[in-house]
Amino acid sequence: MTRILFSAPRSDWEDYRDVLPAAIADAGVEATIEHALDPEDPASVDYVVYAPSSRLKDFTPFTGAKAVLNLWAGVEGIVGNETLTQPLARMVDPGLTEGMVEWCVGHVLRHHLGMDRDILRRDAVWDPVAPPLARDREVTVLGLGELGRAVAEALAALNFRVTGWSRTPKRIPELTCLSGDDGLAEALRRAEILVLLLPLTEGTRDLLDAARLSLLPEGAVIVNPGRGPLIVDDDLLAALDAGRVGHATLDVFRTEPLPEGHPFWAHPRVTVTPHIASATRPRSAARVIAENIRRGEAGEPFLYLVDRARGY
Ligand code: NDP
Repeated sequence: MTRILFSAPRSDWEDYRDVLPAAIADAGVEATIEHALDPEDPASVDYVVYAPSSRLKDFTPFTGAKAVLNLWAGVEGIVGNETLTQPLARMVDPGLTEGMVEWCVGHVLRHHLGMDRDILRRDAVWDPVAPPLARDREVTVLGLGELGRAVAEALAALNFRVTGWSRTPKRIPELTCLSGDDGLAEALRRAEILVLLLPLTEGTRDLLDAARLSLLPEGAVIVNPGRGPLIVDDDLLAALDAGRVGHATLDVFRTEPLPEGHPFWAHPRVTVTPHIASATRPRSAARVIAENIRRGEAGEPFLYLVDRARGY
C-alpha cells in the first residue's frame, strides 16, 4: 500500500480530501492519504504532497520518500531547502494555465483598448476614439514556460505582435522568440505592454531595475503575475511617477499581503490584485499528482521535475 502525506494547510486539505483519493484510485494506485504535520513513522511515507505554506520545513525524516510533489507552480519557497534531498516536482495544472491565460488576456485587453478611459468617464463628453487593433500592438512576455507560452500564444491568436523571452532559445510559431541579455533589451524596447511570467530565481530577482525599465517605450504598461521581486519597487515607482511607465497591474509583491501603507495601494497608475491571477484547481491538479504517483510506482520518470541548480 502506497503511503501519501498531504502536507498543506487545512483549507487545502478540504479542497483535496475527496478529489485526490479519487484521482489516485483512477490512476490504479492503492494508497492511504493522511493530512498530518508530524506523521508517525515518517520513514515509510512514499510521497509528500506539499504546499510551501505548510509548516513542514524539515524533510530529513522522510528517508523513504520517492518524491515531493509541490501543489504550486512556483517553487522558490522550497527549492533552496537543504533538507530536501528527494526529487521535487512542481505543479503544471491545465486549470491553472487556463486561468492565467484568461487573467493576462483580460488585463492586456484592458490596457490595449483603453477601457479605463471609458469606465472612468462621467463628464458627459462624447469623444469617439476607436480602439486600435491588436495587430498594431507590441506585447512582450518574459518567460515562455508552461504559463508564459500559453499566454503568448493566446495573445498571438488575437493578432497581437508578440515577442517572448526565455533563458534558452526557442522557436514558437507566431511568436518572435528572444533569449540572452541582448534579447531582453530588444524584448523590452518593443514592449508597449509587458507581461512577466518568470519564476523567481537568483537569475531573475530584481530583473526590472531602473536601467531595464528605461528601455521600455514611453508610457508602456506592465502586467506582473510572475513574482514581486522580479521588479525593483522603488525603480518602478519612479518610472510611474515620471510617466515613463503608464500603468502597472501587479498581482504579486515582495511582501504578501501587500502592507497597508505601501505606495502601490494608492498610486493612480497602479492596479493591485491580491495574488489571484490564477490558482491550482484541485480537480485537475489532483490528476497531475496522481499521474506522478502512478509513474513513481511504475518506475517511470516523474513529470515536471524541478532542476534544483537552475532554481525552477
Ligand atoms: P516554467 O518553469 O514553466 O517557465 C519559466 C520560464 O521562465 C521558462 O521559459 C524559462 O526559460 C524562463 N526563465 C527562467 N529563468 C530565466 C532567466 N534567468 N532568464 C530568462 N528566462 C528565464 O514556469 P511557469 O510558466 O509554470 O510559471 C512561471 C511563474 O508564474 C511561476 O514560477 C510563478 O512565479 C508564477 N505564477 C503566478 C501565479 C499567480 O497567481 N500570480 C500562479 C502560478 C504561477 P526556459 O524555457 O529557457 O527554461
